[in-house]
Amino acid sequence: MPDLNAVVAEIAEEMRQRTDRGEVATYIPELAGVDAGQFGIAVIDADGAVTAGGDADVPFSIQSVSKVFTLTLALGKIGDRLWRHVGREPSGSAFNSIVQLEYEQGIPRNPFINAGAIAVTDQILAGHEPREALGEILRFMHFIADDPSITIDEKVAASERRTGFRNVALANYMKSFGVLQNPVDYTLGVYFHHCSIAMSCRQLAMAGRFLAWRGKNPTTGHSVVSPERARRINAIMLTCGHYDGSGEFAYRVGLPGKSGVGGGILAIAPGIASIAVWAPGLDSVGNSHLGRIALERLTKRMGWSIFGD
Ligand code: GLN
Repeated sequence: MPDLNAVVAEIAEEMRQRTDRGEVATYIPELAGVDAGQFGIAVIDADGAVTAGGDADVPFSIQSVSKVFTLTLALGKIGDRLWRHVGREPSGSAFNSIVQLEYEQGIPRNPFINAGAIAVTDQILAGHEPREALGEILRFMHFIADDPSITIDEKVAASERRTGFRNVALANYMKSFGVLQNPVDYTLGVYFHHCSIAMSCRQLAMAGRFLAWRGKNPTTGHSVVSPERARRINAIMLTCGHYDGSGEFAYRVGLPGKSGVGGGILAIAPGIASIAVWAPGLDSVGNSHLGRIALERLTKRMGWSIFGD
């Protein structure tokens, strides 16, 4: 097998040099100023050893990668009843699209498009104060990453709240179908804040370990979810984790993955590694341009695609 250290170092060097870096998201003004020249990668194996490259310790806005963790939390709270509020089919449309909602009576296609994630957040909120729900999400992040230093970037959250007109529209639309139970403001407040959690590649890869090792953190032995649930969350990441770019990601990378408009991607090689990459420039569907290319290189060189080497 190729030497992981050498492969990661080569990838970091290639990504540092490339001039095609995609475009940073500008619809959240606070993200528009992020330097697109950055690139980070962290790979964690079963023994907890981290192989890192580039800007692996620079915190970034995890944005929609947080939806993996809110989905996990909501399933833990209400189990399969969650599927009354959200589907689990790929949408084939943009992350912030509203069109399917009308045809499908306000039930979002899956938990990873914005509408679906807002419906999931609404279930976590479940009548509590937004502050309590956010505290719960943040404590969960501390637990799974084994790192109490993870925080929310309040500037990003405020920036999203000021300009999140589409998300306000999606939430109101769902509310009109009775899909959301809490006041729209409350649910969106929690949603904007969990999207604004800041983490480095190292922290994000740490947080993803339970998905790679049958629901358990192999270092601490802490159980987060059952093996069955970890498998199913991975399945949804594979089919829906990159919106209308999910097919292309499966084709090129071959791992369950979840992207965010901050440029981060969490990818899971079951039984092998938890991987986080970050490059702020996005492709035309809003997924990290160099992040995807870096993962494609990694899985190809290491033979880690779930579809075979
Ligand atoms: N917070 C972002 C939004 O609601 C998340 C989108 C994303 O990362 N794709 O638009």
